[in-house]
Amino acid sequence: MNYNAIIGKVYEETKGLPNKGKIATYIPELANVDPNRFGVHMTNLNGKGFGVGDHLKKFSIQSIAKVLSLTLAYKIVGEKIWKRVDVEPSGTKFDSLLLLEVNNGIPRNPFVNSGAIVICDILISHLGNAKVDFLAFVRELSNLPDLVYSDKIADSEKANGYRNVALCNFIKSLDNIENDPAVVLDFYFDMCSLEMNCQQVSNMMTYLANGGHKVSDGSEIITKSQSKRINALMLTCGFYDESGEFAFKVGLPGKSGVGGGIVAVYPQHYVITVWSPPLNPHGNSFLGMKFLEEFTTHSDFTIF
Ligand code: GLU
Repeated sequence: MNYNAIIGKVYEETKGLPNKGKIATYIPELANVDPNRFGVHMTNLNGKGFGVGDHLKKFSIQSIAKVLSLTLAYKIVGEKIWKRVDVEPSGTKFDSLLLLEVNNGIPRNPFVNSGAIVICDILISHLGNAKVDFLAFVRELSNLPDLVYSDKIADSEKANGYRNVALCNFIKSLDNIENDPAVVLDFYFDMCSLEMNCQQVSNMMTYLANGGHKVSDGSEIITKSQSKRINALMLTCGFYDESGEFAFKVGLPGKSGVGGGIVAVYPQHYVITVWSPPLNPHGNSFLGMKFLEEFTTHSDFTIF
């Protein structure tokens, strides 16, 4: 099957659709992006890649980085991690406080904001300098030695992230944050501020299509079982209260971010990243969702 041709065709079709999405403005810096940007890049496990549109233009990966922080925390603490964060879909928005009270401060999964904040707390407790060490981990994983946090985006969120401040303090009051909430939030906002292009995200995430091993040198990032579990979480929880819809329509594990990026993984085969900034009401890229639905439908290349 000629995937490049399918990607090109579906890209053109999707681009022609009316974009009913809206750019995230609650982080003011994200509102400065051109809403017409649209890029796609697929990386196969044989090292070949193919991209169209704005696939080489950097964007704010936001919550896609939650997959990376989970990977590092899971690698460090192993199965004990699930005592601090659950593995169930939340059925609520990405920044919801709703279920925390009834669940005694245990977030539903590591991909809602509350869960990712707890993962940041775990990393701070286990690393000498979480910000530096996490960045070093991502640099190594992505083969991007010059990668840095975006101060512009991080500062913009630090000045306006009231719900995340509320989430972290609330979880602290329920005894599931060990460190100073201000320190945990500072790291969380930096983690979300990373910028990459579609090609770089696809290349970086290939370890999840390759049983937890880096494709370029075969080194183990996480075990096969851990990779299976992170893929399972992406399938069930990667799109907040639209996770069922994504599994239903696209049929791949994936993760979205409010910067408009979506990464999807077909284990043993490929990773595909789509970026279009306007979001649907669930906080996921409007065109990104449409593109991936059409792509897996035309290519027949899904896990189901
Ligand atoms: N930094 C964003 C926030 O905390 C991440 C949310 C997302 O990308 O879905 O609100």
